[in-house]
Amino acid sequence: MHDQLRSWAEVSLDRIAANFRNIRAVVGPRTAVACVVKSEAYGHGMVAVAKRLVAEGAPWLTVTSTQEGMELRQAGIQDTHVLVMADALRANFASMLDYRLTPAVHDLADLAVFNELALARGGRVRVHLKVDSGMGRLGVAADARAIAEAVRACPNVEIEGLMSHLASSSDFPGTQTGQQVQTFTRVARELAGAGIRPSLRHISASGGVVYGLRDAWLDMVRVGLSLYGYVPSASGPAPASLIDVKPALVWKTRVLSVKELPAGVPVGYGARHITERPARIAVVGAGYADGVFRQLSCRGLVCAAGVWVPMLGAVSMDMCTIDVTDIAGVKQGDEVELLGEGFNADNIAALAGTISYDVLCKIQPRSERIYV
Ligand SMILES: *Cc1c(COP(=O)(O)O)cnc(C)c1O
Repeated sequence: MHDQLRSWAEVSLDRIAANFRNIRAVVGPRTAVACVVKSEAYGHGMVAVAKRLVAEGAPWLTVTSTQEGMELRQAGIQDTHVLVMADALRANFASMLDYRLTPAVHDLADLAVFNELALARGGRVRVHLKVDSGMGRLGVAADARAIAEAVRACPNVEIEGLMSHLASSSDFPGTQTGQQVQTFTRVARELAGAGIRPSLRHISASGGVVYGLRDAWLDMVRVGLSLYGYVPSASGPAPASLIDVKPALVWKTRVLSVKELPAGVPVGYGARHITERPARIAVVGAGYADGVFRQLSCRGLVCAAGVWVPMLGAVSMDMCTIDVTDIAGVKQGDEVELLGEGFNADNIAALAGTISYDVLCKIQPRSERIYV
């Protein structure tokens, strides 16, 4: 199958659906699970993943940009709420409303912009107001009085949601998460005192769910990474993970060529590897332009014929070289796993000095996604 492809990713939508059901069961019926499908669903393919999650009953999808939200609507996802979490560009506000996307508002002055747009359309708009509870990135200052004043001045804007984001939810022990939750709940309480009671308060992503930060679950959680079967790696003595999720993606490439080399000859750019013995190497059809981290040069692993074998030499743009001296019968066209059960996104991240999110998002579109 797919014998003409140099590289591809096999994605199990059943697995993602099972992960979703597991997370939903863990947080319980009072907390909605919003499914984060930004960045091509962390490399799994946004539209296919979103359609499956909608079929599983996902009440909300969340994306980063207006363009991603438009793509979901154009793909026929019409009846599910889509929250645009991080598009602060006013140039996109009208499109958000045209496509019935729910804006996250990051600036009180933008409430007036949405109010005008709503008036011009003769209706009301629902938004989620994002508060900076202490991460220091997007979001309005946590000042309930200023928020209430701005909201009252915009009668055509309904604050359906109040949201924030945790900067350190996987850090133990740490004080930032507790402080952020406290700040957020204080603002929510003060707004309620001023008559503003958003029905969806949400602050937690995967880390807060996995590590059981129940005070942060509130009305909704926004989960990305754990839908795709990974747990954000913790620093320090974290509690055991509450969820039971499994990775849904295996990334594969093919052997382009196999050759025998004598001892003492260089392999690849910069001669970073010199054969120590007569060696058999296989050249495989994926490199850093496909998303193989260059930091894996001379240290990564791939699985060939069921055995995890080392990468030799530098990762090139479109290829890398692997050592198959000790396994017999490897030939052109054979499948090789770049990321799979024995060497997953966490293992790659540890070797490449990054996080599993980065590894998954870097798998390029030219590795076709195949749903299995
Ligand atoms: C990406 C993102 C999430 C999801 O984070 P995970 O750790 O992948 O669950 C949630 N909220 C916001 C605002 C995000 O940008």
